[in-house]
Amino acid sequence: MSAGTNHEHLYWGVDCGSTQIKVIACDGDGKVVHKRIGRTLFPLLEHVRNTISAGGSGPSPLTEDLLGVKENHTLAATGYGRNHIEFASGKLTEISAHFLGAQQLLQLDGPYTIVDIGGQDSKVIEVHDGRVGQFVINRKCAAGTGAFIEELAHRLEVPLSDLTRLARLHDKDMTLNSYCTVFSGQEVIKILMNGERLENLIHALYASVVQRILEMTSITTQNVVFSGGVMNFNPILIDLFDEKLPDHTTFLVEDAQYCGAYGAALFARGLAEKQAENFSQSEVNVRLAT
Ligand code: ADP
Repeated sequence: MSAGTNHEHLYWGVDCGSTQIKVIACDGDGKVVHKRIGRTLFPLLEHVRNTISAGGSGPSPLTEDLLGVKENHTLAATGYGRNHIEFASGKLTEISAHFLGAQQLLQLDGPYTIVDIGGQDSKVIEVHDGRVGQFVINRKCAAGTGAFIEELAHRLEVPLSDLTRLARLHDKDMTLNSYCTVFSGQEVIKILMNGERLENLIHALYASVVQRILEMTSITTQNVVFSGGVMNFNPILIDLFDEKLPDHTTFLVEDAQYCGAYGAALFARGLAEKQAENFSQSEVNVRLAT
Protein backbone atom coordinates (compact mmCIF):
# COMPACT_ATOMS: atom_id res chain seq x y z
CA MET A 1 0.00 0.00 0.00
CA SER A 2 1.66 3.22 -1.08
CA ALA A 3 0.74 6.74 0.01
CA GLY A 4 -0.03 9.81 -2.13
CA THR A 5 -2.10 12.99 -2.04
CA ASN A 6 -4.37 15.22 -4.10
CA HIS A 7 -7.71 13.46 -3.98
CA GLU A 8 -11.33 14.56 -3.77
CA HIS A 9 -13.57 12.30 -1.74
CA LEU A 10 -11.67 10.18 0.79
CA TYR A 11 -12.83 6.89 2.27
CA TRP A 12 -11.65 6.12 5.79
CA GLY A 13 -11.39 2.77 7.52
CA VAL A 14 -10.83 2.64 11.27
CA ASP A 15 -9.86 -0.67 12.80
CA CYS A 16 -10.24 -0.27 16.54
CA GLY A 17 -8.38 -3.39 17.68
CA SER A 18 -7.79 -4.70 21.17
CA THR A 19 -4.26 -3.27 21.25
CA GLN A 20 -3.91 -0.78 18.39
CA ILE A 21 -6.12 1.57 16.40
CA LYS A 22 -5.30 1.49 12.69
CA VAL A 23 -6.59 4.11 10.26
CA ILE A 24 -6.44 4.04 6.47
CA ALA A 25 -7.75 6.58 3.97
CA CYS A 26 -8.09 5.60 0.35
CA ASP A 27 -9.25 7.39 -2.78
CA GLY A 28 -11.96 6.30 -5.19
CA ASP A 29 -9.53 3.92 -6.89
CA GLY A 30 -8.75 2.19 -3.60
CA LYS A 31 -5.28 3.74 -3.49
CA VAL A 32 -4.07 4.32 0.07
CA VAL A 33 -3.39 8.00 0.72
CA HIS A 34 -3.09 8.15 4.54
CA LYS A 35 -2.14 5.69 7.25
CA ARG A 36 -2.33 6.35 10.98
CA ILE A 37 -1.86 4.26 14.08
CA GLY A 38 -2.41 4.70 17.81
CA ARG A 39 -2.71 2.58 20.91
CA THR A 40 -6.09 1.36 22.14
CA LEU A 41 -6.32 3.36 25.35
CA PHE A 42 -9.17 4.81 27.37
CA PRO A 43 -11.31 6.88 27.15
CA LEU A 44 -11.56 4.95 23.90
CA LEU A 45 -13.39 7.47 21.76
CA GLU A 46 -10.91 10.21 22.61
CA HIS A 47 -7.99 8.01 21.51
CA VAL A 48 -9.83 6.92 18.38
CA ARG A 49 -10.53 10.55 17.45
CA ASN A 50 -6.91 11.55 18.10
CA THR A 51 -5.59 8.69 16.00
CA ILE A 52 -7.92 9.56 13.12
CA SER A 53 -7.11 13.28 13.22
CA ALA A 54 -3.43 13.23 14.03
CA GLY A 55 -0.38 12.23 12.11
CA GLY A 56 1.09 13.14 8.75
CA SER A 57 0.30 16.19 6.75
CA GLY A 58 -3.04 14.92 5.50
CA PRO A 59 -6.46 16.27 6.40
CA SER A 60 -8.60 15.10 9.28
CA PRO A 61 -11.95 13.69 8.17
CA LEU A 62 -13.47 14.83 11.45
CA THR A 63 -15.29 18.12 11.98
CA GLU A 64 -13.65 20.81 14.15
CA ASP A 65 -15.49 19.59 17.27
CA LEU A 66 -14.33 16.02 16.41
CA LEU A 67 -17.92 14.80 16.77
CA GLY A 68 -18.80 14.19 13.15
CA VAL A 69 -17.34 13.50 9.71
CA LYS A 70 -16.79 16.29 7.17
CA GLU A 71 -18.35 16.41 3.76
CA ASN A 72 -16.29 14.60 1.13
CA HIS A 73 -15.25 12.00 3.67
CA THR A 74 -16.93 8.69 4.45
CA LEU A 75 -15.77 6.64 7.40
CA ALA A 76 -16.44 3.04 8.37
CA ALA A 77 -15.34 1.20 11.49
CA THR A 78 -14.27 -2.33 12.26
CA GLY A 79 -12.46 -4.12 15.07
CA TYR A 80 -13.28 -5.07 18.60
CA GLY A 81 -14.19 -1.48 19.56
CA ARG A 82 -16.11 -0.60 16.38
CA ASN A 83 -19.48 -0.19 18.08
CA HIS A 84 -18.13 2.69 20.16
CA ILE A 85 -17.28 4.74 17.08
CA GLU A 86 -20.56 6.58 16.90
CA PHE A 87 -19.65 8.89 14.03
CA ALA A 88 -18.96 6.00 11.60
CA SER A 89 -21.36 5.79 8.65
CA GLY A 90 -21.09 2.00 8.69
CA LYS A 91 -19.60 -0.82 10.72
CA LEU A 92 -18.38 -4.22 9.68
CA THR A 93 -16.94 -7.22 11.47
CA GLU A 94 -13.20 -7.84 11.51
CA ILE A 95 -13.91 -10.99 9.50
CA SER A 96 -15.47 -8.98 6.66
CA ALA A 97 -12.83 -6.25 6.93
CA HIS A 98 -9.85 -8.61 6.62
CA PHE A 99 -11.60 -10.40 3.79
CA LEU A 100 -12.27 -7.17 1.85
CA GLY A 101 -8.70 -5.96 2.41
CA ALA A 102 -7.07 -9.25 1.46
CA GLN A 103 -9.32 -9.73 -1.56
CA GLN A 104 -8.46 -6.31 -2.95
CA LEU A 105 -4.73 -6.59 -2.23
CA LEU A 106 -4.16 -10.12 -3.51
CA GLN A 107 -7.03 -10.63 -5.97
CA LEU A 108 -6.86 -14.41 -5.53
CA ASP A 109 -9.28 -16.30 -7.75
CA GLY A 110 -9.75 -19.61 -6.01
CA PRO A 111 -10.64 -20.44 -2.41
CA TYR A 112 -8.26 -19.35 0.31
CA THR A 113 -7.93 -19.18 4.07
CA ILE A 114 -7.07 -16.00 5.95
CA VAL A 115 -5.09 -16.38 9.17
CA ASP A 116 -5.28 -13.13 11.14
CA ILE A 117 -3.30 -12.94 14.37
CA GLY A 118 -3.98 -9.84 16.41
CA GLY A 119 -2.91 -8.50 19.77
CA GLN A 120 -5.45 -10.47 21.77
CA ASP A 121 -7.24 -12.76 19.37
CA SER A 122 -6.72 -14.90 16.31
CA LYS A 123 -9.01 -15.84 13.46
CA VAL A 124 -9.02 -18.41 10.69
CA ILE A 125 -11.41 -17.45 7.88
CA GLU A 126 -12.27 -19.48 4.80
CA VAL A 127 -13.11 -17.69 1.57
CA HIS A 128 -14.95 -19.48 -1.23
CA ASP A 129 -16.28 -17.99 -4.46
CA GLY A 130 -15.32 -14.50 -3.34
CA ARG A 131 -17.34 -14.76 -0.10
CA VAL A 132 -16.57 -15.48 3.52
CA GLY A 133 -17.43 -19.06 4.46
CA GLN A 134 -16.68 -20.71 7.78
CA PHE A 135 -14.51 -18.97 10.31
CA VAL A 136 -13.13 -19.65 13.78
CA ILE A 137 -12.13 -17.04 16.36
CA ASN A 138 -10.03 -17.52 19.47
CA ARG A 139 -10.74 -14.66 21.80
CA LYS A 140 -10.76 -16.56 25.04
CA CYS A 141 -7.10 -17.08 25.78
CA ALA A 142 -3.82 -15.39 24.96
CA ALA A 143 -2.31 -18.51 23.37
CA GLY A 144 -1.76 -18.04 19.65
CA THR A 145 -2.02 -14.24 19.89
CA GLY A 146 0.33 -11.29 20.15
CA ALA A 147 -0.27 -11.15 23.91
CA PHE A 148 1.43 -14.54 24.31
CA ILE A 149 4.52 -13.40 22.41
CA GLU A 150 4.64 -10.06 24.23
CA GLU A 151 4.22 -11.55 27.69
CA LEU A 152 7.02 -14.06 27.17
CA ALA A 153 9.31 -11.50 25.51
CA HIS A 154 8.74 -9.33 28.55
CA ARG A 155 9.65 -12.18 30.89
CA LEU A 156 12.76 -12.92 28.88
CA GLU A 157 13.60 -9.20 28.71
CA VAL A 158 14.04 -9.42 24.93
CA PRO A 159 12.73 -6.52 22.79
CA LEU A 160 9.94 -7.59 20.41
CA SER A 161 12.02 -6.35 17.50
CA ASP A 162 14.78 -8.89 18.33
CA LEU A 163 12.63 -11.98 18.62
CA THR A 164 12.59 -13.14 15.00
CA ARG A 165 16.35 -12.61 14.59
CA LEU A 166 17.08 -14.64 17.73
CA ALA A 167 14.65 -17.42 16.81
CA ARG A 168 16.41 -17.80 13.46
CA LEU A 169 19.62 -18.60 15.36
CA HIS A 170 18.06 -21.69 16.95
CA ASP A 171 19.91 -25.00 16.61
CA LYS A 172 17.33 -27.30 18.13
CA ASP A 173 13.58 -27.85 17.76
CA MET A 174 11.83 -27.88 21.10
CA THR A 175 8.18 -28.15 22.10
CA LEU A 176 6.63 -26.30 24.99
CA ASN A 177 4.22 -28.35 27.07
CA SER A 178 1.69 -25.55 27.56
CA TYR A 179 0.07 -22.87 25.44
CA CYS A 180 -1.07 -20.99 28.48
CA THR A 181 0.81 -17.76 29.10
CA VAL A 182 1.07 -18.37 32.84
CA PHE A 183 2.27 -21.97 32.58
CA SER A 184 4.52 -21.22 29.60
CA GLY A 185 6.09 -18.43 31.63
CA GLN A 186 6.96 -20.86 34.38
CA GLU A 187 8.17 -23.45 31.90
CA VAL A 188 10.37 -20.91 30.14
CA ILE A 189 12.16 -19.99 33.37
CA LYS A 190 12.68 -23.66 34.22
CA ILE A 191 14.09 -24.40 30.75
CA LEU A 192 16.48 -21.46 30.96
CA MET A 193 17.58 -22.49 34.44
CA ASN A 194 18.46 -25.87 32.98
CA GLY A 195 20.87 -24.12 30.64
CA GLU A 196 18.90 -24.11 27.35
CA ARG A 197 19.86 -21.50 24.74
CA LEU A 198 17.55 -18.49 24.61
CA GLU A 199 17.38 -18.77 20.79
CA ASN A 200 15.96 -22.31 21.02
CA LEU A 201 13.42 -21.21 23.55
CA ILE A 202 12.19 -18.27 21.46
CA HIS A 203 11.91 -20.55 18.45
CA ALA A 204 9.80 -22.94 20.54
CA LEU A 205 7.54 -20.05 21.60
CA TYR A 206 6.88 -19.17 17.98
CA ALA A 207 6.30 -22.83 17.11
CA SER A 208 3.69 -23.00 19.85
CA VAL A 209 1.84 -20.01 18.36
CA VAL A 210 1.70 -21.77 14.98
CA GLN A 211 0.60 -25.03 16.59
CA ARG A 212 -2.17 -23.27 18.51
CA ILE A 213 -3.51 -21.64 15.33
CA LEU A 214 -3.41 -24.90 13.38
CA GLU A 215 -5.35 -26.61 16.16
CA MET A 216 -8.19 -24.09 15.84
CA THR A 217 -9.35 -25.71 12.60
CA SER A 218 -7.96 -27.68 9.68
CA ILE A 219 -6.87 -25.62 6.70
CA THR A 220 -8.45 -27.10 3.60
CA THR A 221 -7.58 -24.57 0.91
CA GLN A 222 -4.41 -24.53 -1.16
CA ASN A 223 -3.82 -20.82 -0.61
CA VAL A 224 -3.29 -19.37 2.84
CA VAL A 225 -3.18 -15.61 3.43
CA PHE A 226 -1.64 -14.03 6.52
CA SER A 227 -2.95 -10.80 7.98
CA GLY A 228 -2.70 -8.74 11.18
CA GLY A 229 0.01 -7.13 13.26
CA VAL A 230 1.59 -10.29 14.62
CA MET A 231 2.23 -11.79 11.17
CA ASN A 232 3.44 -8.36 10.03
CA PHE A 233 6.11 -8.03 12.71
CA ASN A 234 7.13 -11.64 13.31
CA PRO A 235 8.12 -12.93 9.86
CA ILE A 236 9.54 -16.15 11.29
CA LEU A 237 5.94 -17.24 11.82
CA ILE A 238 5.56 -17.46 8.05
CA ASP A 239 8.56 -19.81 7.83
CA LEU A 240 7.08 -21.95 10.60
CA PHE A 241 3.65 -22.08 8.93
CA ASP A 242 5.39 -23.01 5.66
CA GLU A 243 7.13 -25.91 7.42
CA LYS A 244 3.82 -27.15 8.84
CA LEU A 245 1.88 -26.59 5.61
CA PRO A 246 4.35 -27.79 2.96
CA ASP A 247 1.67 -28.41 0.30
CA HIS A 248 0.08 -24.98 0.65
CA THR A 249 0.96 -21.65 -0.92
CA THR A 250 1.23 -18.83 1.60
CA PHE A 251 0.92 -15.07 1.13
CA LEU A 252 1.50 -12.18 3.52
CA VAL A 253 -0.73 -9.25 2.62
CA GLU A 254 1.08 -5.97 2.15
CA ASP A 255 1.06 -3.86 5.35
CA ALA A 256 -0.65 -6.78 7.06
CA GLN A 257 -1.45 -4.86 10.24
CA TYR A 258 -3.56 -2.41 8.22
CA CYS A 259 -5.46 -5.02 6.22
CA GLY A 260 -8.62 -4.72 8.36
CA ALA A 261 -8.53 -0.92 8.25
CA TYR A 262 -8.05 -1.05 4.50
CA GLY A 263 -11.04 -3.41 4.19
CA ALA A 264 -13.09 -0.94 6.24
CA ALA A 265 -12.00 1.92 3.94
CA LEU A 266 -13.15 -0.10 0.92
CA PHE A 267 -16.43 -0.75 2.72
CA ALA A 268 -16.78 3.02 3.28
CA ARG A 269 -16.22 3.53 -0.44
CA GLY A 270 -18.96 0.98 -1.16
CA LEU A 271 -21.32 2.77 1.25
CA ALA A 272 -20.71 6.12 -0.39
CA GLU A 273 -21.22 4.67 -3.87
CA LYS A 274 -24.45 3.04 -2.77
CA GLN A 275 -25.70 6.32 -1.34
CA ALA A 276 -24.80 8.07 -4.56
CA GLU A 277 -26.60 5.36 -6.54
CA ASN A 278 -29.71 5.66 -4.34
CA PHE A 279 -29.64 9.41 -4.77
CA SER A 280 -29.45 9.29 -8.52
CA GLN A 281 -32.08 6.54 -8.57
CA SER A 282 -34.49 8.74 -6.56
CA GLU A 283 -33.68 11.64 -8.84
CA VAL A 284 -34.59 9.47 -11.81
CA ASN A 285 -37.86 8.48 -10.09
CA VAL A 286 -38.72 12.12 -9.40
CA ARG A 287 -38.03 13.01 -13.01
CA LEU A 288 -40.23 10.14 -14.21
CA ALA A 289 -43.06 11.15 -11.88
CA THR A 290 -43.25 14.79 -12.98
P1 ADP B 1 -5.38 -5.76 17.24
O1 ADP B 1 -6.20 -5.46 16.00
O2 ADP B 1 -5.89 -6.89 18.04
O3 ADP B 1 -5.09 -4.54 18.04
P2 ADP B 1 -3.06 -5.92 15.50
O4 ADP B 1 -3.39 -6.75 14.30
O5 ADP B 1 -2.99 -4.46 15.34
O6 ADP B 1 -3.99 -6.33 16.72
O7 ADP B 1 -1.67 -6.45 16.06
C1 ADP B 1 -1.15 -5.94 17.24
C2 ADP B 1 -0.01 -6.83 17.66
O8 ADP B 1 1.03 -6.77 16.67
C3 ADP B 1 0.65 -6.37 18.94
O9 ADP B 1 -0.02 -6.90 20.06
C4 ADP B 1 2.05 -6.92 18.78
O10 ADP B 1 2.09 -8.29 19.15
C5 ADP B 1 2.28 -6.84 17.29
N1 ADP B 1 3.03 -5.62 16.95
C6 ADP B 1 2.52 -4.42 16.62
N2 ADP B 1 3.51 -3.51 16.38
C7 ADP B 1 4.66 -4.18 16.57
C8 ADP B 1 6.04 -3.84 16.48
N3 ADP B 1 6.41 -2.59 16.11
N4 ADP B 1 6.96 -4.79 16.73
C9 ADP B 1 6.60 -6.04 17.07
N5 ADP B 1 5.32 -6.45 17.19
C10 ADP B 1 4.36 -5.53 16.93
